[in-house]
Amino acid sequence: ERRDGDQPEFLEAVREVLETLQPVVEAHPEYEKNAVLERFIEPERVIKFRVAWVDDSGKPQVNRGYRIQFNSAIGPYKGGLRFHPSVTESVIKFLGFEQILKNSLTTLPIGGGKGGSDFDPKGKSDAEVMRFCQAFMTELCRHIGPDTDVPAGDIGVGGREVGYLFGQYKRIRDEYSGVLTGKGLEFGGSLARTEATGYGLCYYTQEALKTLRNDSFAGKTVIISGSGNVAIFATEKAQQLGAKVVTASDSNGYVYDPNGINLDVVKDIKLGHRGRIKEYAERVPGSEYHEGCKGVWTVKGDIALPCATQNEIDEESAKTLVANGVTVVCEGANMPSTPEAIAVYKANGVLYGPAKAANAGGVATSALEMSQNSERLSWTFEEVDSKLHDIMVGIVHNSLDAAKKYGHEGDLQLGANAAGFEKVANAMVAQGIL
Ligand code: NDP
Repeated sequence: ERRDGDQPEFLEAVREVLETLQPVVEAHPEYEKNAVLERFIEPERVIKFRVAWVDDSGKPQVNRGYRIQFNSAIGPYKGGLRFHPSVTESVIKFLGFEQILKNSLTTLPIGGGKGGSDFDPKGKSDAEVMRFCQAFMTELCRHIGPDTDVPAGDIGVGGREVGYLFGQYKRIRDEYSGVLTGKGLEFGGSLARTEATGYGLCYYTQEALKTLRNDSFAGKTVIISGSGNVAIFATEKAQQLGAKVVTASDSNGYVYDPNGINLDVVKDIKLGHRGRIKEYAERVPGSEYHEGCKGVWTVKGDIALPCATQNEIDEESAKTLVANGVTVVCEGANMPSTPEAIAVYKANGVLYGPAKAANAGGVATSALEMSQNSERLSWTFEEVDSKLHDIMVGIVHNSLDAAKKYGHEGDLQLGANAAGFEKVANAMVAQGIL
């Protein structure tokens, strides 16, 4: 707090983790002896830089870029880039911090990092996005590399942006390597990477339901927020698993479709022409559009999968969800529930799957993309999807095993933090004070 008092999102993420790690730290005196916690919450490196570019009218624009290389104890820094006007050092730092534990949970050799910019891609032309990405990478390229730091996408950074970023890296460094993940299939991308976070979220939720409740998605009504990469493919997999998804949203509002969301229409709006979700209600009879994204949490359902952004479910929304019959909340977005909302879940016996476990499928598949790039081979969709499925099932069981070991049986939140942390902490102890 002394150093980072002006970084509310970062402090929120750190508090959530430290509050659950008490029994782990008590069981490992060597962590205290080696100042593991103190080092764990301090990024190895924070890079902040100017990104200057010229818009279509010829006017120069200036944004701020970030790359936070948080922890490299178990592998090269790995984590997405976010382009959104709400990006600050605090937001990137909370995301980078969460990423350390998430990446550890995948069991793959990747450290934690995150980056981005306050650039808003909304309303920008393709040429403007390209010039921005080129300017951003012109600075970033000196800090990253396939064995050092491997960024991916996040909010506002999809296939188009990763393509422009990759092109500029290749041009400046004269090196064709797996320096970014989420690449196009023609230049080193992995099949199933686009689907991975949303699919993985559903594999995780399905396994948690099976193990803890002897239940499944079949016949359930599901509330999903967002209509971006994670939301679209979470909707697709939940539908394949027999659920009815009744909502979709964006930062302006949400749609409710009692007949079940027609995903082709959402894909056409969002992936086809970067439109607004409002258009859905104009195209699909029987559906309703409501202004304001928070209203999505007033819809009745059994399972909620928040897939838009941080702190989108506050205490009031959590209470409404519970009152409306929701008994499962698994997080596709990063830190979508406030601490008060999590307390409401816990007090009401909600099956709570925290983001760092439930949405780890994206980065896990990114690590599989790195493996394919290193061996210069491409695996089939089925091969990647089946590995993703196994990783998500493994995360549920590793979390539950860790929760049991530390006396909190069934607690997926404590279990995820404990399992993710132990591996990183042991590596930090083994590598000495650095
Ligand atoms: P996209 O940019 O594809 O989609 C983001 C969605 O969330 C859009 O519908 C967007 O609406 C909405 N949204 C963004 N910001 C806000 C806001 N401040 N208030 C309300 N709605 C908002 O991003 P992703 O789907 O990739 O990411 C969604 C979440 O999932 C993020 O928390 C991200 O960190 C997390 N995540 C993503 C992974 C990935 O592989 N992509 C991996 C793991 C986690 P609008 O169009 O109006 O902005």
